[in-house]
This record gives sequence, structure tokens and C-alpha cells, in this order.
Amino acid sequence: MPPPKRRHSNARTRSRRTHWKATLPGVTKCNNCSEVILSHVVCPSCGFYGGKQIVAKNS
Ligand SMILES: [Zn+2]
Repeated sequence: MPPPKRRHSNARTRSRRTHWKATLPGVTKCNNCSEVILSHVVCPSCGFYGGKQIVAKNS
């Protein structure tokens, strides 16, 4: 690809990035304690993942 001939204005750059939005990370509910958790991550409040106790919690 050749180098650009002219610099884009700030408005052109920003208008292109209007469609570039921040998105929420994958958020689900825990199957065990129905706490809102990140998906593919062991539940931080009860230690369950995939219906099994992975991390021991004493509370
Ligand atoms: Zn949980």
C-alpha cells in the first residue's frame, strides 16, 4: 500500500471512529449462586465453574 498523500483532518478520523464503541465484556449469571459474573471465569463469590466446585470457599 502506498503512503497517504494527505493528512486526514481530526473530524474525518473522529467521524470514522464514531462506530468504534466500547462494548461490555461477556457477563452472565452464576448457575450456583446467580451472581453476575464474567463468562468462562470461575465464580468469585462461590468458586463454581461448569456446575462443579473448583475453588474452595469457606463462606
Ligand atoms: Zn457463584
